[in-house]
Parts: sequence; structure tokens; C-alpha cells
Amino acid sequence: MFALMQSTRTQSLHLFNDPQTGLKAVVAIHNERLGPAMGGCRYLPYADDESAMTDAIALAQGMSYKAALAGLALGGGKAVVMRNPHVENRAALFQALGRFIDTLQGRFVVAVDSGTSTLDMDCIAQGTPHVTSTTACGDPSPHAALGVFAGLRATSYARLGSYNLEGLRVAVQGLGNVGYALAEQLHAAGAELLVSDLDPGRVRLAVEQLDAHPVAHDALASTPCDIFAPCAVGPVLNGHSVMQLRCAAVAGAANNQLTNLQVADQLEARGILYAPDYVINAGGLIHVALTHAGENSAAIAAHIARIPARLTEVFGHAQAEKRSPARVAQTLAERLLYT
Ligand code: NAD
Repeated sequence: MFALMQSTRTQSLHLFNDPQTGLKAVVAIHNERLGPAMGGCRYLPYADDESAMTDAIALAQGMSYKAALAGLALGGGKAVVMRNPHVENRAALFQALGRFIDTLQGRFVVAVDSGTSTLDMDCIAQGTPHVTSTTACGDPSPHAALGVFAGLRATSYARLGSYNLEGLRVAVQGLGNVGYALAEQLHAAGAELLVSDLDPGRVRLAVEQLDAHPVAHDALASTPCDIFAPCAVGPVLNGHSVMQLRCAAVAGAANNQLTNLQVADQLEARGILYAPDYVINAGGLIHVALTHAGENSAAIAAHIARIPARLTEVFGHAQAEKRSPARVAQTLAERLLYT
């Protein structure tokens, strides 16, 4: 684990174990140079302890880059709670997590992420003030979707020469909190939707409400479309899947879409424009960070509205330097974090 911490420049890794509630949690703090670390809490099943730690480390690094490029005075962190299918008292589990997070004395502020809800954050808030996206603060997912939608239009302009999404075929992978909200906006803008989700109920809803075309979840990435929008979990873009893509651009909400930067080079070589995940999906973080800081909704909306400009800046550098946007975004973020 230390080798991974070293290669990702992760500052610290905290393991929490509470036999009473069955809580097994990891908090990774990647970088605190620009401010306290903030990041979501995942509550998902993991094959083993090592995969949970590895996920927390990779996601925390992404949060540092995301906060830096979004112009927030925050560092990056992430909490991962290993989902236990036999948990008796979910509220007690998250209350215990709150008490543990409190021992970090504000170095890490937690928010909602895949598998958790604002109600879970309310439970955490019983043990620590270092939590946001409680029911009082609201769910960041619609704000994440808003930013991704605006970023997807900027990506369409950069790659296809038009902001108009009417008739554009967009493949949305994952119809969860963010993916479904994004699909709604795309439908309203006249895009044609191809969708997949492991949960058939979510797909059915999109078919009924958004005229979406269902695609088997293992076939979506290779289905011809204009823009592929990964909105599920996990590194969906690897050396193999990139060769299957039949789209002009990739622009979606999911964190850590690339298995590594060589995959970004492969996308570039195939002429597929990649919108770096931590640039395009910063809307959720902007919402939780500014809500936590007491800003009003107008200020939050104005900050989210800057995402397309940041993305366009990244695309501009990428084109001028003939590099992948993912490499450009990394360089820009690391300049802010380390120089
Ligand atoms: P979610 O858990 O609500 O939704 C994820 C959805 O993806 C679920 O419906 C799940 O069934 C589906 N899914 C999982 N694997 C799949 C697969 N292989 N193919 C198709 N569908 C699959 O999560 P969310 O909050 O919508 O977040 C989605 C992604 O966006 C995550 O990577 C998350 O880290 C990232 N993100 C979320 C936010 C936020 O505010 N929620 C902000 C920024 C980034």
C-alpha cells in the first residue's frame, strides 16, 4: 500500500473498524495544500480490504485534482465503507463513521457518493460537524449532472462543432443519481438516448419517461453513438474497451474512468475526444463545498457554470500541444498542487 501511496503522493490512509456496528471503513487523505480534504463516501461491496484501500486512494487523488481545477480552497480525500449485506443497523454504522471522522479534527470533510444518501450523512452528522450533503444541505447529484450536461455541450462543440444536442446520439452508462438526471437534461435538449444499467428498473424508467433505447450493459460501450457518457462506477476505459468504442467523444460523470493515462493516449490516437472526469464532474463537489461554506444557490450555480470554460481551456491546450486532455488536466492540476 505504501508503494501506491508514494506513486499517487497520498498523504495519509486511515482505517476504522467498529465491531459493534460491523463498520469497516477507509479514509484516504491525498493532499491538503489548498485546504482541508473533502470527498464523498462510497458504500459498496469490495472483494477485499486491499481493493477498498486502493479505490479510496485513487478516488482521493482525483478529488485533489478536481478541487484544484474547480478553483476551490480544498484538498482531496475519500471515504470508502465496505458494504456488509448483513448490516443490522445502517444508521448506527454511519453514526460510528461520523465519530471516527471526527477524530481527524476537520482534516477531512465527508459528502455523499455512490451507495450513500443524504440520510446517511445525517447519521454521520450526529458524530461530527465535518460533513456536508446532509438532508439540510441537499443532494449534490443534480448539481453534478448540471455540470456534466454543460461540459458535454462544450465537448460536443469542441469535437463536433455544435452546442446543439438535438438528434445527437448519447450513450449513458449508469442511470443512478447523476446518470438519470443527466439523461433527463439530454432528453429535454433533444438528444437521442441509448442507456444501460445493471438495474432493469432504472432502464425501464428511462425508456418510459425519456424515450431511451435500452442496450445490454456489456454492449453499450461498443454501440455506435456520438458521445459515450460513463455515469456508473469503476474504470470503464481500459486498453481493450477503448478499442471497442464507436463514438466521437467521451464525456460523463463517473469518477476514475481511465485505468491509466496510456488509455487516454489511445483515445487520442483514435480521434476520440476525452473530457477528463474530474474536470467535467466537478459540479457535485462545487455544490457541497460552497454549501458547507455557507454560499447561496446563485453563487453555486455561477461556479458550476464555469465548468465548460475550464474544459474548453483543457481542450485548447490539448490541441495546441497534441496531447490528451487527460494529460493536460493532470499537468494543470499538479501545477496548482505542487508548485
Ligand atoms: P449511483 O450509485 O446513484 O448510480 C450508479 C448507477 O450505475 C447505478 O444505477 C448502478 O446500477 C449503475 N451501474 C453500475 N455498474 C454498471 C455497469 N457496469 N453498467 C451500467 N450501469 C451500471 O451513483 P451516482 O451518485 O449516480 O454516481 C455515478 C458516478 O458519478 C460515480 O462514479 C460517482 O463517483 C460519480 N460522481 C457522482 C457525483 C454525485 O454527486 N453523486 C459527483 C461526481 C461524480
